[in-house]
Amino acid sequence: MALELLPAGAHIIAMCGVYGGTHRLFDKLRARNNGLSVDYVDLNDLDAVAAAVKPSTAMVWIETPTNPLLELVDIAAICQFAREHALLTCVDNTFATAWNQTPLSLGADIVMLSTSKYIGGHSDMIGGALVTADETLAKKIDFAKTTVGAIASPFDAYLALRGLKTLDLRMQRQCDNALNVATALENHPAIEAVFYPGLPSHPQHALCQTQMRSGGAVVTIQLKGTRVESERFLSRLRYFILAESLGGVESMINHSASMSHGSMSEEEREAMGVFDTTFRLSVGIEDSRDLIDDLLYALDQEAS
Ligand SMILES: *Cc1c(COP(=O)(O)O)cnc(C)c1O
Repeated sequence: MALELLPAGAHIIAMCGVYGGTHRLFDKLRARNNGLSVDYVDLNDLDAVAAAVKPSTAMVWIETPTNPLLELVDIAAICQFAREHALLTCVDNTFATAWNQTPLSLGADIVMLSTSKYIGGHSDMIGGALVTADETLAKKIDFAKTTVGAIASPFDAYLALRGLKTLDLRMQRQCDNALNVATALENHPAIEAVFYPGLPSHPQHALCQTQMRSGGAVVTIQLKGTRVESERFLSRLRYFILAESLGGVESMINHSASMSHGSMSEEEREAMGVFDTTFRLSVGIEDSRDLIDDLLYALDQEAS
């Protein structure tokens, strides 16, 4: 719906590695039907962003943290750049939610989030939200929404509102749990790498501390060994259920290579750093000791 603000033929600069569905919407639908063109750029490299700006550039599409490797974008820096170039900014805040970061206060024009994830919080609804403090933009979005009919069903709206009541409690617990899980796995001999912005070893930990309240509730791990060993690891888990989605009260695990990034070629995927042995954990509200035991048991069986 945020794209309805753009003129036909507009150019968008988007964070490299945006959510797969966003990628599909940009490249498969809007490019064909509305003549939009999109360049994917590392938004932390402002020289690269400047080089990508064209006369038709109208929007910068920001996503932070990214999926699944949890790279951060410096929201204040890119929004200042965009303002200087008269470009709209829209931040996909699905992973962080307003509990962790508030892009409007960092200069963004619009925040987009899937309410199917943390806002609903129970993996039982589908919805989305656009948030802006700009009345003119709000009116345009409202007009487009009402005209196109992209509105939530009453029941989904009810579930989103009910979820919101416990967002604070759930996020506190899930983000604490995620830090405990990431810390417990970081130096495990069966693990090649842990990606979590809340760990001091994350290359953007300093940015995380200025921009986010915690490292979030998603932790990505890359195992040592082969795909077959990874599949065995997966089959031994009891708490982490295999799921495409994230953000619910129950812990979930996603095999990025075959699920969220399944439509990419192996080379494309590996160039991004997503391997057969990469797993994204959506950490739930369970007792973190149970979650850590579950992971360590599955990993130790693998190491022995
Ligand atoms: C899931 C997700 C979306 C899309 O949400 P749906 O509610 O499933 O349409 C968009 N962005 C990110 C980062 C997501 O994780």
